[in-house]
Amino acid sequence: MSDRYCVIGNPIAHSKSPLIHAAFAAAMGQDLIYERCLAPLDGFEATVRGLVDQGYRGANVTVPFKLEAARLATRLEPRAHAAGAVNTLIFANGEIVGDNTDGPGLVADIVRNAGVALKDKRILLLGAGGAARGALLPLLLQAPRQIVIANRTLATAERLVQDFSKHADKLAVSGFAEVEGSFDVVINATSASLASDVPPVPPTVFHPGTLALDMMYGNKPTVFMDFATLHGASVRDGLGMLVEQAAEAFVLWRGVRPDTAAVLTSMRQP
Ligand code: NDP
Repeated sequence: MSDRYCVIGNPIAHSKSPLIHAAFAAAMGQDLIYERCLAPLDGFEATVRGLVDQGYRGANVTVPFKLEAARLATRLEPRAHAAGAVNTLIFANGEIVGDNTDGPGLVADIVRNAGVALKDKRILLLGAGGAARGALLPLLLQAPRQIVIANRTLATAERLVQDFSKHADKLAVSGFAEVEGSFDVVINATSASLASDVPPVPPTVFHPGTLALDMMYGNKPTVFMDFATLHGASVRDGLGMLVEQAAEAFVLWRGVRPDTAAVLTSMRQP
């Protein structure tokens, strides 16, 4: 029987993860089934336990269950522990292992796909929610010069920096409007684009050559990408990050790394 995996969320019908994992499995000759799994808002734990009982080998976790998944895991990998959030569960040997591949996926998309090295770079991270939290350690591991975290609710950004106090010399906090200077990379990890909002940062955060990445993706550029383009940045949406985080999860489950370029190209076809 094929090994079974799924992505758990609520809502979940829109998820592209089954397409991505089916493409990886076909390319790598791996015998697996990957489905969407809608969990009731108050039924995440019961859903996960049901999957374990049915012999599933693992699952991805998406909105709004990433924090609950971190609490449910019987063991957390260091990057999931640092993020306080889990997007990948591995069911093995009676354990529920939690990991977080969102941040590594983001870094892979910037460094490998966009060809932008992060060492000694100045990075502006907009947002301090789960996605920003997951991105922080993998970004720091690239040895940037500085990461400024700007958020609508300043206290949340301050808490995030406190949680990473070991790296305090590299981190700074700001309100959106108060961000100073320009940046080599600007990452929109807010969910503002969902509401067609742009975090109100000054346009001077961009300089020619800045890479502006919105973690959100859709059929057309987000309002943040339009804003960044207008001010001279080159832009990316979050589809590359999505494919790369899936590849990282595939490695954890199957022990082989799928090629992401062909899958990303096919996902971009209308
Ligand atoms: P959270 O709900 O945990 O955090 C939301 C963040 O956005 C907070 O910092 C919040 O600020 C901020 N925010 C919300 N609305 C606005 C607004 N109108 N203006 C300014 N800031 C706002 O969400 P996540 O961190 O999980 O997700 C953030 C985004 O990243 C989503 O769009 C999600 O789809 C995307 N994502 C993409 C992935 C990919 O693979 N491409 C993977 C993971 C996430 P405050 O603290 O003030 O509330």
